[in-house]
Amino acid sequence: MDMNKKEKNRIRNKRWRLKNPERAKEFCVRWRKNNPDKIKQYSKLNISKRTTEQNREYQRKYLAKKFGVPYEKIDTAEIVERDWGICRVCHHEIDMSLSYPDPESLTLRHIIPMAEGGGHTKDNVEIAHLECSFSLGSKNIFKNGEFKRKGTEPT
Ligand SMILES: [Zn+2]
Repeated sequence: MDMNKKEKNRIRNKRWRLKNPERAKEFCVRWRKNNPDKIKQYSKLNISKRTTEQNREYQRKYLAKKFGVPYEKIDTAEIVERDWGICRVCHHEIDMSLSYPDPESLTLRHIIPMAEGGGHTKDNVEIAHLECSFSLGSKNIFKNGEFKRKGTEPT
């Protein structure tokens, strides 16, 4: 019941803002001026809440939507276990104690890039060093000729 009311209010507010953009802007500016503490608190909260990993997940979700490819929530730990903690690009172990943005830190990369129709799904991700992932970019080919992306001829 309460949630419904909130939701209705939100929609009504949105409509009002769309109809009265100037007044909405004015209202917003005034509110900000009158509530500087609330704004400070709010932005602080957001920054601490959103860890890097969450941000990246958010970004992936956005990209999947943008490219119209499937998206599923992926448990990184599960993929690490599946891939034996080995970088699938250079075949060296990944030091799990390192964290982003260390070039040697762990990252998930897409086997078929999302821009080329690959989904953010368990089947289409593998673990890699951040640096290795960057060095490949979207020209994604396994090293040592073990595996080539679909549609590419072996050289
Ligand atoms: Zn690597």
